[in-house]
Amino acid sequence: MNYNVNEKGYYGEFGGAYIPEMLYPNVEELRQNYLKVMAEPDFKKEFDQLLKDYVGRPSPLYFAKRLSEKYNTKIYLKREDLNHTGAHKINNTIGQILMAKRLGKHRIIAETGAGQHGVATATVCALMGLECIVYMGEIDIARQAPNVARMKMLGAKVMPALSGSRTLKDATNEAIRDWINNPVDTHYIIGSAIGPHPYPDMVTRFQSIISEEIKWQLKEQTGHENPNYVVACIGGGSNAAGTYYHYLHEPEVGIIAVEAAGHGVDSGESAATSVLGKEGIIHGCKTLLMQTKDGQITEPYSISAGLDYPGVGPMHAHLCKTGRAEFMAITDDDAMNAGLELCKLEGIIPAIESSHALAIFKQRTFKSNDVVVVSLSGRGDKDLENYINYFKI
Ligand SMILES: *Cc1c(COP(=O)(O)O)cnc(C)c1O
Repeated sequence: MNYNVNEKGYYGEFGGAYIPEMLYPNVEELRQNYLKVMAEPDFKKEFDQLLKDYVGRPSPLYFAKRLSEKYNTKIYLKREDLNHTGAHKINNTIGQILMAKRLGKHRIIAETGAGQHGVATATVCALMGLECIVYMGEIDIARQAPNVARMKMLGAKVMPALSGSRTLKDATNEAIRDWINNPVDTHYIIGSAIGPHPYPDMVTRFQSIISEEIKWQLKEQTGHENPNYVVACIGGGSNAAGTYYHYLHEPEVGIIAVEAAGHGVDSGESAATSVLGKEGIIHGCKTLLMQTKDGQITEPYSISAGLDYPGVGPMHAHLCKTGRAEFMAITDDDAMNAGLELCKLEGIIPAIESSHALAIFKQRTFKSNDVVVVSLSGRGDKDLENYINYFKI
């Protein structure tokens, strides 16, 4: 079984490029060039150098001793929370800004929901001195004031999306419209392992630095490259794709994907796409998607803004369908408690997204000598208000 993208841009039956004809030249230009550019020694050198000196990689692989004792198994945390800007998203935006420059683009557009991808994009645009326009739903702009302020400080222009429900999908539509109108000088930075081919594969490759590092770090610490399990939370699926990438074809490594159950999978307020989703088209690709009977996208819900997405990247849809990955759904309450537990046991305040991945230890037992690597995708600074309100701190 192949879990990577095929020549046509598919993972099994999922993926492809379902785009308006007018977008075809932009996507095709990227498709024809992305692998070639990524293989250039100069590109690799600049990417690696920035990951090291600007992002702060390699991120540590930390053996969480007290957490491991509590759950009677061996838990290692991949500390993406220690990256510059506080999460894994910067790995992808660094890669894409270098790609944009190689393709001669000097104007960058992006869409953002909670603002995390917008901040990561604004950051790399400032770094490279490129114009940055971030589309964001009007409702999200009001809800995410600190990230809007960050983007503005970093020199980005934040454009409100005023149509529809004025949230992420409307911002995506605006970004696509912009790209159609500016096909020559503009690159569109998508923030997760989603979008028309070649985006899911390109984003996955940029994020694959996560599992590349886990391999040698684990070897250094335990004598073995392969853990028994790799675990990551899934919004669109970019930190997960990077965490799994070098283990996809290692059958002895179990893959665990953690989705947000919100108030519960059957509550009507959830983002557990693998359970609730049906095949459909979102953001230019065929994948699992939460939708009504007549194909309207259902509003997802999760306490964590980064997991509040109605679809899942096509690679993950394939991992789910083939059974290669085990999917678990974690409620808001279980995630919040797991987040607080990590604070108390390890002195690390995780992003609420990452707290979902940590919550699996209450639901599922592992053997005492199992090595379980969990992607700690981000830090909790951005979520402080949420934690405060939830725990009445
Ligand atoms: C955005 C975000 C996620 C979800 O995005 P993926 O593409 O699924 O990785 C997870 N964790 C953090 C900290 C995020 O900021």
